[in-house]
Amino acid sequence: MNSPARERRVVIRARFACVAGAVAQLFPLVGMAQSRDVSAGESNRRGPIASSQVASAPLDALSAALGGSFRRYHSEHFEILSDCDGGTIRRVLELAEDTFRGVSRFIKRLELPHRPPVGRMPMLVFERYNSYERHARQAGFPASESVPGYFDETSGICALFNFANSTAIRTQRDELWRRERALTSLQRTGDKSDAAAATPAQNDVKAARRALDAAQQAVIATVVRHEIAHQVLAATGVQSTHSGAARWLIEGTAMQFENADGPNALRLADALAVPPGDRLAHARRVVGDPRELAPGRPNASAAYAMAWALVYHLAETQPRALASYLSTPPTGANELDAFERRFGELDTAFVQKVYSNLEATRP
Ligand SMILES: [Zn+2]
Repeated sequence: MNSPARERRVVIRARFACVAGAVAQLFPLVGMAQSRDVSAGESNRRGPIASSQVASAPLDALSAALGGSFRRYHSEHFEILSDCDGGTIRRVLELAEDTFRGVSRFIKRLELPHRPPVGRMPMLVFERYNSYERHARQAGFPASESVPGYFDETSGICALFNFANSTAIRTQRDELWRRERALTSLQRTGDKSDAAAATPAQNDVKAARRALDAAQQAVIATVVRHEIAHQVLAATGVQSTHSGAARWLIEGTAMQFENADGPNALRLADALAVPPGDRLAHARRVVGDPRELAPGRPNASAAYAMAWALVYHLAETQPRALASYLSTPPTGANELDAFERRFGELDTAFVQKVYSNLEATRP
């Protein structure tokens, strides 16, 4: 899994659409992944567990560099350096530990070779986008508000910013606040008909606020779980994110842990939305061409959903073959050829089986 290249992992992109006024529907989709070559000398010095071995050191150095507003927190398996409030950090740590348990169950179920992480896995969580963006740029990762997290396997650090402070979420909160204020002043006019009209509208605003809260929590949970999954898979030696490993397998595996249990409802919906006539060609492209999962791809949500669906299907139907593919990935081979040698021809019958399995799990 090691390769003479360092990869930069950048992940969830959240896209927003306003439905019924200020009610937000958040469509998380995994976005970008880029690779950057480094000198062979540097990569040769890195052993397979280098990122875990140096796990706590980066936070020590960063703690001094980022200043007094950043504090250290930890749970059993994770250590966080953050300027967020304690409640936000508690939630992130709960999500991280739950993701760790999910990966542990997966390791057990597939009997995957693994090792315990060395020390607590380091995380950086920024309250504000601008400080996250600055740090990401310095670390060599492209950042945008729609890409609120990344995992850097070389340092072992997972970095995120508090998506509750994203422009998209704040804009919608401001809009709700304006509507609430307008309704309150309507009630204060003393006109009975205005006051009567305001009450149902206020209920609408409350419902919109609850929907926005739920959507925000869902996006944050997906982002945190996805990045932590990459981090735990790397720290336990199950799967490296270094380039050279198959993109469909790296992303498809991480997406198995974006939800607490059962099939991933968001990815399932995206996978089922692919028109039946397109599914075979789509599956072959996603496996055979890593660019399908590359930055700015217009159809990224469908590509990620297919990668999720393939790993989900293989874990259910060919766990031994998937386990051996994860622990001894083929090298130098065309990904599609390698896939077909291990799992069988990726033909119409294969894709039909994947989809009948998905249909059976539809809630
Ligand atoms: Zn990813």
